[in-house]
Amino acid sequence: MTPFHYTRASDVSDAIRQIAADPAAKFIAGGTNLIDLMKYDVEHPARLVDISQLPLKSIEETSDGGLRIGALVPNSDLAYHPLIEQRYPLLASAILAGASQQLRNMASTGGNLVQRTRCFYFYDAVTPCNKRQPGSGCSAISGVNRINAILGTSEACIATHPSDMCVVLAALEATVHVAGPAGARAIAFSDFHRLPDNTPQRDTNLEPDEIITAIELPPKGFSANYSYLKIRDRLSYAFALVSVAAALELDGDTIKEARLALGGVAHKPWRVSAAEAVLLGQRADAGIFAQAADIMLRGAKGYGHNNFKIGLARRAIVRTLSQAAHGTPQSQSVKKIR
Ligand SMILES: Cc1cc2nc3c(=O)[nH]c(=O)nc-3n(C[C@H](O)[C@H](O)[C@H](O)COP(=O)(O)OP(=O)(O)OC[C@H]3O[C@@H](n4cnc5c(N)ncnc54)[C@H](O)[C@@H]3O)c2cc1C
Ligand code: SF4
Repeated sequence: MTPFHYTRASDVSDAIRQIAADPAAKFIAGGTNLIDLMKYDVEHPARLVDISQLPLKSIEETSDGGLRIGALVPNSDLAYHPLIEQRYPLLASAILAGASQQLRNMASTGGNLVQRTRCFYFYDAVTPCNKRQPGSGCSAISGVNRINAILGTSEACIATHPSDMCVVLAALEATVHVAGPAGARAIAFSDFHRLPDNTPQRDTNLEPDEIITAIELPPKGFSANYSYLKIRDRLSYAFALVSVAAALELDGDTIKEARLALGGVAHKPWRVSAAEAVLLGQRADAGIFAQAADIMLRGAKGYGHNNFKIGLARRAIVRTLSQAAHGTPQSQSVKKIR
């Protein structure tokens, strides 16, 4: 076992002070990802700064009609909160599609955003991996890459971001509130996670001495026409091979607004504004959904074992948008749309 120090932060300022004072320190919240990474010899923090007792566990309405979710709200509490169930059921669906009840009870909202990839080689500390050890190479590109990315990849890394919740936060255009030694700032969700490029070791634009304090949801929750579809190897306790978050605002059969995001296919939740734009003003039918899917998947590239994801994602997008249009978010079989 690698020894490490453990301290508990007394408030947010103390947490920032402690993390800024020790570059080898890491925050620990629910510990459901970080502890595994330490056991697998992937992460070696010299100090764990426990933030789990900080007063960041409330869900409050904002003056513009949105919600502010504290970074330490457990995933279960978030999914079952009445305001989330009523106004943001798409978010509740995605959270409940993740992990297991026990894990969701421990996992925090902030930790979910910063959880690391599930690429097999990232967890296998004896194989080359640019994310774990920059410059060592990428074992997945020519290895077993069934779960890896098909969009936004680089020659350095083809990992995916594993979160379900983040796919919906991207679609809903949430904002991440963070604080650090230089003060507080807000990051648009689309700018929070990064593509790998030649720095795959950096998953997000959060600085190492910054803490996530809250996630803010805009007022619009698309509670009438939404669907989150997660395709995975088992029905529970498995990460997404492909997931789709779809949210529509309809006027009769006509699409007034559309949001679409993919999980399991890229280093960050995947959104393409042109795919949403093509839906606007159109009749909600399978033909236009297929066009949106083609735009979403432009430039998609398989690496062998994961070639199947391209066709799977295309079909999943059409199906999820169809479910959203019908107002049948959880249906397993979709009636054919005229
Ligand atoms: C078996 C298993 C199956 C899973 N399946 C799924 C799944 O299907 N879908 C899914 O979405 N997730 C899944 N998860 C992942 C789970 O959701 C995450 O592990 C969890 O959300 C992480 O939250 P945590 O509070 O436990 O984070 P921790 O493990 O405590 O921390 C994770 C990282 O986040 C950082 N961190 C935590 N809080 C903050 C903060 N406030 N500010 C800055 N940095 C912070 C930590 O320093 C650390 O680097 C699974 C996990 C396991 C173990
Ligand atoms: S895909 Fe990324 S995480 Fe996986 S082995 Fe390659 S560099 Fe490492």
